[in-house]
Amino acid sequence: MRFPFVHVGYNISVMHELSIALSLISAATQAAREAGAGSVLGLRVRVGVLAAVDEDALRFSFALASEGTALEGATLTIESVPAAGWCPVCHREVEIQSIQAIRCPSCATPLPHLAHGRELELTSLEIIEGEPIHDGAVR
Ligand SMILES: [Zn+2]
Repeated sequence: MRFPFVHVGYNISVMHELSIALSLISAATQAAREAGAGSVLGLRVRVGVLAAVDEDALRFSFALASEGTALEGATLTIESVPAAGWCPVCHREVEIQSIQAIRCPSCATPLPHLAHGRELELTSLEIIEGEPIHDGAVR
């Protein structure tokens, strides 16, 4: 039996970034409330180059998902974190040049684990103090 091919056309990568944006908004809303923020002007995130996050898709998703929330209009600053690992031969952290070969750029030793590159962190918020912001959708 053959199944008919149905063209769906969802952009999977946008959906992936949308779920990240929703998590970010949830975390930032909670952090802002704990900090006594009246409103949030901006948020800064660190995204590892191996975190499989497309920055443009994340910005787009954030703008979409923050509509009607306390984070609507906030500036999203994305700091890209290069991939790095500890080289057991050189005894130092080295930046990884190619994801295809996770090796030390100096001595070519394969690196046993990554120290950086998979980050996905909300690192700071720029806030204005004031009346506490509300949950989610209603302002
Ligand atoms: Zn090395």
